[in-house]
Amino acid sequence: MPFDPIVSPTVRVAPHREPQFVHEDQQSAAARRLDEYRTRTGRRPNVLVVLFDDVGWGDFGCYGGGGAVGAPTPNIDRLAREGLLLTSCYSEPSCSPSRATLLTGRLPMRHGLLRPPMYGEAGGLAGEVTLAELLAEAGYVTQAVGKWHLGESRESQPQHVGFDDFYGFLSVSDMYTEWRDPYFFPEIVYSEERTAWVENQPFNRCFVHATRGGELDNVEEVTIPVLSQLDDKWCEYSIDFLRRQAGSDAPWFLYHCTRGAHFDNYPHERYLGSSPAKHPYKDTIVELDAIVGRLHETLHDTGQLEDTLVIVSSDNGPEMETWPDAAYSPFRCAKGSTWEGGVRVPAIVSWPGLIDAGRSSDGLVAFTDLVPTVAALADIAGSVPSDRFIDGVDQTSFLLAPEGQSNRKYQYYWLLDHFSALRVGEYKFMLESISDDDRDVLNPGGFTGVTQRYPYGRLYNLYLDPKETRSYLIRKLAYLDSFQSGIREHLLTFRDFPPKRVVGGGG
Ligand code: CA
Repeated sequence: MPFDPIVSPTVRVAPHREPQFVHEDQQSAAARRLDEYRTRTGRRPNVLVVLFDDVGWGDFGCYGGGGAVGAPTPNIDRLAREGLLLTSCYSEPSCSPSRATLLTGRLPMRHGLLRPPMYGEAGGLAGEVTLAELLAEAGYVTQAVGKWHLGESRESQPQHVGFDDFYGFLSVSDMYTEWRDPYFFPEIVYSEERTAWVENQPFNRCFVHATRGGELDNVEEVTIPVLSQLDDKWCEYSIDFLRRQAGSDAPWFLYHCTRGAHFDNYPHERYLGSSPAKHPYKDTIVELDAIVGRLHETLHDTGQLEDTLVIVSSDNGPEMETWPDAAYSPFRCAKGSTWEGGVRVPAIVSWPGLIDAGRSSDGLVAFTDLVPTVAALADIAGSVPSDRFIDGVDQTSFLLAPEGQSNRKYQYYWLLDHFSALRVGEYKFMLESISDDDRDVLNPGGFTGVTQRYPYGRLYNLYLDPKETRSYLIRKLAYLDSFQSGIREHLLTFRDFPPKRVVGGGG
């Protein structure tokens, strides 16, 4: 029977694992390719994750943006031509939940970071097992650079959760600078008392360096001029790392998280006015594209390109409450919501020789899938924890087989601790969401709206109606049982594996 994502059955490989499609032909094709690589090189692949902040699905030229929206992205477009462009890759609705999901293979309701921790707030990754830990135990050199935002408490800092070295900041861009900018906070900037009050808050205003198991060293206070240079400095740090590793037999994992293009954007002076749009957000996109180019060129020049899986993505959709300092997405609503605009992110995966060039796929991929997939590629699938639920599926055969198809059947959308929607194939069945009614919200942004619950559910056909404007449910009742059973099976996993709420939730 030909494969169909709605009709074809899945297999639950273990009680603690998300069910997945098993495409036998593509599995053996992928295994042959991986075996050939291992035999020829005697290596396991390096892994470079470049994660942008609040960059939209439509910002890059290869997604229909680029020059058409005032910021050409030739380096990212080239990476897409050399690899696989994903059109249905899903993050979580905001920064910290997405990042924790990427590093643990678990949904926010399992790792517990339901929203970003605020100034000095406790809580983070304690008790979780990260991809960096799994890879480090298997002999990988692990490096984190740039934005962390997974909790500032000691046990959640990168050098305590698997990274050998960290160079970056622990929080989020606007926290360092917005109260310094008289345009946004005149009442603080022009008040010595309020400035002193902010400076006394329990928040580290510096970007930092740390090595495995050690304490943080402050590198420099993140003033606005310093912030404008961070992405350049962090790129240089990663380039140095890549050059150092070139001579080593050990494989490596580089988790490079940019500052840009989270509000407020202050591009490096080399990039001021560099975009046709001349806007700081767009100039920052041009700068980020150049950073991808510099990292790619370093891999090429040091002979590591063909040994490296490269993944470029963004941690959530556009933050529209700060428009026009905001990304572009053709989808409905924004960051903070479970409409497509909040969670459908650009994602490009490249590994020359192993992933065929020039592919694109609308197969479902979730941020949870990174952990089991990289674990399989690194030949440590058996190390993925078995004492907790892992929501990711192994996408190795999707990536490596010629014209491979996704192994994921369902995309689950969670809004804090509320189950919001299920996608399978082109259909999205939504039970609860953020209102983006423009009489009620700003711009319209995903954090501003109220939650709405739909007593009968809404059904969107994302192929006919990618902006989710017309519920199709009453004409498509034949699907209802299968959507409901998909949701029921998913929710039942929380009976055996109880949810965890560390930051946020309870409502
Ligand atoms: Ca973000």
